[in-house]
Amino acid sequence: MNIHNDPEDVEYLAAIELRKRPITIDQFHKFEGYAAEIFSAFGMDLNSPATKDTPRRFIKALYDATEGYEGDPNLLRVFETECRGEPDCRLSQVVEGPIHFFALCEHHALPFYGTAYVGYIAHETIIGISKLTRLVRLFSRRFAVQERIGQQIADALETMLHPHGVAVFLEAHHLCMEMRGVREIAPTTRTAVWRGYFAQDPALRSEFFSACRLQHD
Ligand SMILES: [Zn+2]
Ligand SMILES: [Zn+2]
Repeated sequence: MNIHNDPEDVEYLAAIELRKRPITIDQFHKFEGYAAEIFSAFGMDLNSPATKDTPRRFIKALYDATEGYEGDPNLLRVFETECRGEPDCRLSQVVEGPIHFFALCEHHALPFYGTAYVGYIAHETIIGISKLTRLVRLFSRRFAVQERIGQQIADALETMLHPHGVAVFLEAHHLCMEMRGVREIAPTTRTAVWRGYFAQDPALRSEFFSACRLQHD
């Protein structure tokens, strides 16, 4: 990892909660065996050309879908800017979205997916817009809870940028509910996190929602 020597990186690294996943080839083979046993018992015919590699593909897909634990050191780079919104920086609200994301709910290990909108009010540092997308992916490609993804994105932005405010809005379909008919026509689940000026000022929240072109209640 290419981490520069800013002491705040310690705080940032704590916020993004990375963990290495040293899984051996032998372990992968064992996991494929477990998946094969489950699929077969639940009804899949594993002896067809189409399905004989399904356990291997399933384990690989699950591993790839949770790669957010391994992190992205490029997120660390921030750019100096000037605090432009005299006297309160409110002119510099940056909003990015919709950012499409896919996550696995940690209660069922089934997908939930939707869109995220991330906004911040810059103070002395900014990051590239594409980094907001990477930040959403970093926390969504894990076993997750929708509300926590929003909190983690906000925590990471606060430790990276020390902005005047952060807003994160997520809207998602949860397959653990929809696939099993618990709620067949499920509305999307919406969660919002407000920090700094956004927590204090309803007008800024409205401005954020209109920047996202979202209606809110
Ligand atoms: Zn679930
Ligand atoms: Zn400022």
